[in-house]
Amino acid sequence: MKQYKNFIFDMDGVLWRGLEPMDKLVDLFALLRERGIGHVMATNNASKTPAQYVEKLGKLGVPVEEWQILSSAETTAAYLAQNYPKDTKVYVVGGDGLHVGIRKHGLNVINRQGQFNGIVQPSDIKGGLNSAEIVVVGFTPNATYADLAAATYYVNNGARFIGSNPDVTFPSEIGRLPGAGALIAVVEVATAVKPTIIGKPERYIFNEAVRRLNADRATTLMVGDRLNTDIAGAFHAGLPSLLVLSGITDSAEVATSKIQPTHILDNISALYQALL
Ligand SMILES: [Mg+2]
Repeated sequence: MKQYKNFIFDMDGVLWRGLEPMDKLVDLFALLRERGIGHVMATNNASKTPAQYVEKLGKLGVPVEEWQILSSAETTAAYLAQNYPKDTKVYVVGGDGLHVGIRKHGLNVINRQGQFNGIVQPSDIKGGLNSAEIVVVGFTPNATYADLAAATYYVNNGARFIGSNPDVTFPSEIGRLPGAGALIAVVEVATAVKPTIIGKPERYIFNEAVRRLNADRATTLMVGDRLNTDIAGAFHAGLPSLLVLSGITDSAEVATSKIQPTHILDNISALYQALL
């Protein structure tokens, strides 16, 4: 592990599980800082802003700056800003991370008009419905039927359909719960339109992380807990990878998978020991 000059860390299932930080979290990052080893957090979770992650990590004893937080929300917002003019109308089903990020990049986040409760209202028919040019769906625990119905309506009426990240579940203290990919799937199934997916395992986040670290790919290690996003994405982006078995993927899944990480360890505590 000592050959690596930069690290890209996934967070959920790697640095913590639910509200529980992993053992040796603080020591690992103290060691990275002491040795001047660059690090960026790259997460498919689009529900929080970089500032919210900086605060969360700070409370856990890991001081980082906003540029070190790269969420699929940030990457989605950057993608939209690079590909569409300012003031493009975007309808968002997602958390603060997506709303704030997309606004920050100068696009126009619109609210739905009409009830979208499954029963057509007189106001819906009498010109009560606006249009969106882009629909972005990401994770939010507050998504309602009306939100997903509005997203379906806009996509059916020609809006470009974008998903922040493909994760169908996320790990919680009580097991796997529906993630962004599950919400995206609702709109995908209802419209029969395939979304463009921005988060891991696509390359966008990895490329942006390498750019921000000013890093050499061969000595930049991606650390993640999911074979099909973290490890597959690292492979697509030409990065070596470390799978930790503290999150979604277990050793039985690795044994039968075509996707193989460069390294496997139980958790970041083992990574810390290997770096000492
Ligand atoms: Mg994870």
